[in-house]
Amino acid sequence: MTKEFTPDPVFHSDADNKFVADEYTPLGKEVFIKAGEDMSDKGYKEGTLAGAIRMKMRRDNKRFWAGDNISDYLHDSDKENLIDEATIAFEKVLDTLLIDRENDPNSKGTARRLAKMYFNEIMAGRYEQAPDATAFPNDSTDRYEGMLVVRSELRSMCSHHHQPVAGVAYIGIIAANKLIGLSKYTRIAQWCARRGTLQEELCNDIAREISKATDSENVAVYVQAVHGCCENRGIMAHSSLTQTTVLKGTFKDDPHTKKEFFDNIKLQQEFAPR
Ligand SMILES: [Zn+2]
Repeated sequence: MTKEFTPDPVFHSDADNKFVADEYTPLGKEVFIKAGEDMSDKGYKEGTLAGAIRMKMRRDNKRFWAGDNISDYLHDSDKENLIDEATIAFEKVLDTLLIDRENDPNSKGTARRLAKMYFNEIMAGRYEQAPDATAFPNDSTDRYEGMLVVRSELRSMCSHHHQPVAGVAYIGIIAANKLIGLSKYTRIAQWCARRGTLQEELCNDIAREISKATDSENVAVYVQAVHGCCENRGIMAHSSLTQTTVLKGTFKDDPHTKKEFFDNIKLQQEFAPR
């Protein structure tokens, strides 16, 4: 049996960057990438928008793993076009799974639903800019110097199996010169979570972004979550719980601060068991 193989212009190009132009222009479903001078047709190379964006990220050495935010590489209008491209790709997946998407009423439109769900919901944190977290000064004589612990509900997805991850993050900080609104902690945590993640990385990402938004180096994040990939498949462990902790600054160095953080988590859990 002979197999038709169409090389991806990005990943199978023998001359790297040969086709790369400075800008890509989204033009609806089809995108035309300006060809380099050495292209034989001296014209435009037809491709997908996703291909053009991948090419640009590769050229910039921009990492685009499932847990990375790539919003700097998207124009506002790109998402709708990418959803169109992903719909076609999901249709192919359903066809390969031998699902009759023409006649099965429940599978009609599934490809598009999947495409929209990935871009607008379960992976939205990859394509959206960081939430706007307006900071308020905390520099008066009676400034708040205590610990703040915020409990944030999380929904995420494991990048290995694309199975849901559900849990909570407890975010602790020692207030620095900036304070952000309480809901912003959860918005930042959810922005980090709505990607393909590993729980260990997610915990690190939340700590880093909270530190950035608050200018505090004293940050702690404790995440506990259940993973669909352990519950619905594989070991089918229905009560497994994964816990991860990242401690920075005084949370790491001072045992009293660390204890206060975990005592606060216990109080939170008494208040609202998950
Ligand atoms: Zn998994």
